Amino acid sequence: MKMCELCKIRPATIPDRNRMGRQINRICSDCHAARLRGDLTKMAQTIRVFKIGEELEIKGAWFRVKKINPFGIMLKAIKWN
Ligand SMILES: [Zn+2]
Repeated sequence: MKMCELCKIRPATIPDRNRMGRQINRICSDCHAARLRGDLTKMAQTIRVFKIGEELEIKGAWFRVKKINPFGIMLKAIKWN
C-alpha cells in the first residue's frame, strides 16, 4: 500500500486535491484534516480580524463570533433569510 506523501507514516487514503489528473490516494486522513484546519485559519486571518461577540454577515445570514482559537473561529447563526 502507498504511504502518505506528507507524513510518510500512515497509509494514503485520500487523493491530493492540489494535484490535477488521476485521482490517486496520496495523503492520509490525518494530514487531510490538518490541511483543512490550516485553510480555515488562513481564511479567518486573511479576511480580517474578528472579535468575540462581533456580528457579521455572510451571504445574507448573520452570525455572531463565539470563539476564536488557533484553528479558526466558531460562529453562531443568529439570523438568516
Ligand atoms: Zn499523512
